[in-house]
Amino acid sequence: MDKKHELLERYFGYSSFREGQEQVVDAILSGRDAFAIMPTGGGKSLCFQLPALMLPGLTVVISPLISLMKDQVMALRAMGIQAAFINSSLTTEEYRAVCAGLRDKMYRLLYVAPERLELEGFLSVLSGIDISLVAVDEAHCISQWGQDFRPSYLKIPDFISRLRVRPPVAAFTATATEKVRSDVERLLSLRSPLRVTTGFDRPNLYFEVIHPDNKFEALLKLLSPRRQKSGIIYCSTRKTVETLCEKLVLQGFPATRYHAGLEDSERRQNQEDFIYDRRTVMVATNAFGMGIDKSNVGYVIHYNMPKTLEEYYQEAGRAGRDGERADCVLLYNLNDVRIARILISNSNENPELSDEERRELIARDYERLERMIGYCEARTCYRGYILEYFGQPHGDTCHSCGNCSVPYSRREATREAQMVLSCMVRVHERLGYYVGQGLITRILLGSRDKRIRQLGLEDLSTYGLMRGQDKAFLRLLFAGLEDQGYIVKSSEHGAVSLTSAAKDVLFRGKRVEIPVRDPSLLEPKAPKKPVPAPMDPEDMDDDFNELLSALKMLRMRFARAEGVPLYIVFTNATLTELARRRPETMEELQSIPGIGSVKAQRFGQELISVIRAHRKNP
Ligand code: ADP
Repeated sequence: MDKKHELLERYFGYSSFREGQEQVVDAILSGRDAFAIMPTGGGKSLCFQLPALMLPGLTVVISPLISLMKDQVMALRAMGIQAAFINSSLTTEEYRAVCAGLRDKMYRLLYVAPERLELEGFLSVLSGIDISLVAVDEAHCISQWGQDFRPSYLKIPDFISRLRVRPPVAAFTATATEKVRSDVERLLSLRSPLRVTTGFDRPNLYFEVIHPDNKFEALLKLLSPRRQKSGIIYCSTRKTVETLCEKLVLQGFPATRYHAGLEDSERRQNQEDFIYDRRTVMVATNAFGMGIDKSNVGYVIHYNMPKTLEEYYQEAGRAGRDGERADCVLLYNLNDVRIARILISNSNENPELSDEERRELIARDYERLERMIGYCEARTCYRGYILEYFGQPHGDTCHSCGNCSVPYSRREATREAQMVLSCMVRVHERLGYYVGQGLITRILLGSRDKRIRQLGLEDLSTYGLMRGQDKAFLRLLFAGLEDQGYIVKSSEHGAVSLTSAAKDVLFRGKRVEIPVRDPSLLEPKAPKKPVPAPMDPEDMDDDFNELLSALKMLRMRFARAEGVPLYIVFTNATLTELARRRPETMEELQSIPGIGSVKAQRFGQELISVIRAHRKNP
């Protein structure tokens, strides 16, 4: 076995590399720059952590978030690898201790926040130290085109040029758009890097979009069968986070909350409660998550639609890092579109932008929003839609998303289409302008809302024409009419207008069919195709479950004793493998993925005795 594989086995407990990892490791070890684009959970960290063990000097990892550094350093130490971090959360004493450790060459890896790189004090500490690799994590933060632009990332090249010898530089990101990619290479001044892009697919994630009339009820239906799991619920505003979290707690869910408006101490506490599984439901804005490494997140539910598919995939991708099946569900309604439009028109107000730049940015944001809406309204494979967006080839069906598990069938809807179109004509005649889909829907359903009264639309002949009809059906009808070219939606203000083709339906009775899907889709169906980290059905017997529970109890005890989260001790996937393969020797134990020699030594004997005890008393 070569050195690389030996260390992979010894420290990380893995017998093979994942796609792309070995090439990146080899490039770095040969002194070449590297740029790896891998999805969340793809295994980017190992690409720099393994070379860090083999290179003579220190590996400096630049990472944007305090929580991420802490988590990774904790995980490395649990594997027996010496690592430290420096960021604003350290006390003066802790900082000094790390500096002393650096001088004594104690660490293989040092994680730092980008802001540190400008501080003279820090630079002088590093000046006497041999640096063998600079790894830039979340490298997309350097691009103004990305979602997470961090101006201090722009200082990284300065920092590198001040090092005595320029070490290889390796950049990592999960963001795949072309613009961001070229920014990363250019702004970091990578020197003919090895480029590795692995597939963006996450086969163990199940995608679903639900169009509920009542989001809270839909959420409760999703959460109740998932009480045993840990998950994140993303909301678009702080206010929604607060009210939703409160309502969930009242319903008996162990929920906590996170958004940028909370005090630092509360944020930290809530995040820890979630990471340590003291509270298993995290209700948060998008401020939560970048760098959250918690591997046992079983679902990510979006209570509101994000503004872009990049954001969505990044957030949803926080589910299922342990390779187990996890659900990504988006609860969508037209109000989300309205809020997203408001957010876009209020953003880009930076006074340094010229009018033209502002127009360009807004146009870009609307374009991305349209693609996001397209996802929510897609009637073909959700996974395919996402992969298409990231420029990756894919099949027609994935067998493991809402649309593929329960495909659409067609239904005749000519009469209903005529009602919708004629209502649009009437409203236009009355007001002199077109309005949005939401208002037309409410008129047709005979809603008594304020806007309808203010505009005096209750006496239209089409008012209440479709009373009693399902809102979800109307949504499909609008989408169908748009797909078939009878109506068009303005991307800027959402008004819906008729095209000349609509006359064929209105006056010549042209048949309209729309695709419909079984509306009782709240519970995602089990995927037909097996997902990775599989479990044989025959293993799912009582014996297996008993042993698994015993191992979980043991893990809880280890985690408490070491003061680390459960998943840092062992992931669920590792426990499942243990319960399935029942190793009884140290050697067998180390063949389980996720158990390297340090973990085997630390926890092995007790694991083996639990496994043996379980055998003796079946
Ligand atoms: P990323 O940073 O790309 O989001 P991570 O580095 O956190 O992903 O890795 C995700 C998960 O995959 C972790 O639990 C990690 O231990 C696991 N992993 C990484 N490399 C391998 C491998 N070669 N074999 C098995 N599991 C791996």
